[in-house]
Amino acid sequence: MSQIEIKNLHVKIEGKEILKGVDLTIKQGEIHAIMGPNGTGKSTLAYTLMGHPAYEVTQGEVKFKGKDLLKLGADERSRLGVFLAFQYPVAIPGVTVANFLRSALNARRKAENKDDKGVSIPEFRKLLKEKMDLLKMNHDVAGRYLNDGFSGGEKKRAEILQLATLRPEIAILDETDSGLDIDALRIVSDGVNALTGPDLGVLVITHYQRLLNYIKPDFVHIMLDGRIVESGGPDLALHLEDQGYDWVREKYEDTVSA
Ligand code: ADP
Ligand code: MG
Repeated sequence: MSQIEIKNLHVKIEGKEILKGVDLTIKQGEIHAIMGPNGTGKSTLAYTLMGHPAYEVTQGEVKFKGKDLLKLGADERSRLGVFLAFQYPVAIPGVTVANFLRSALNARRKAENKDDKGVSIPEFRKLLKEKMDLLKMNHDVAGRYLNDGFSGGEKKRAEILQLATLRPEIAILDETDSGLDIDALRIVSDGVNALTGPDLGVLVITHYQRLLNYIKPDFVHIMLDGRIVESGGPDLALHLEDQGYDWVREKYEDTVSA
């Protein structure tokens, strides 16, 4: 059973402390949601876990599969089984979705077994089609350059397609709902739900409760000013939908720097 264990994580960006001591453990098979107002550090946590070089860890530790995750490069983290679906996916002109995914999948297989010969092209095509069907994506997407000229909804689906193909042990979904209309939201959520199970731990990051109507979390955490200030079950998300974030701000105003 793999788990990602975050302890007292402090992170700076451009000299400013954004994360001020985050503690969180996510096990395979669990779905956690982090909610919180904009600018509280949710994406910072996601990028830090994935190893974005701009985010400087000043204190704390993150362990995954017995390894010090913070010492590994982004590519090593990915091969090890941590996946991040970006809030703002970047385009990679010149690299097709199919080539990108096949390379990434082979790298991940090789990390698990160094003698792995890689997935054959027919085997990969079959896998990719199956996953595109799951996400109700047009098969033409496979031959397009990754995210290049993709609509907001297509980008989010392409992120989930990566998740479906790579089968990580821990997936972080940063604002996967933003830019999606209700139909696309349902398709993406159904896709995620089809992938969840005992092998996948998920961290869903969202500003709004609506995604959590589709992807049901086991645990809900509220982030405020770089800290997780409240943790609970799904009812916490419903409470936020009802009450907004004001009560959280009031409750923690003394501990939060202005
Ligand atoms: P959230 O995802 O919760 O909306 P972010 O983690 O994106 O919040 O941002 C937290 C804070 O860090 C914000 O004040 C934001 O302006 C700042 N920040 C994030 N990324 C950068 C960056 N690359 N350079 C400077 N400041 C940043
Ligand atoms: Mg964000």
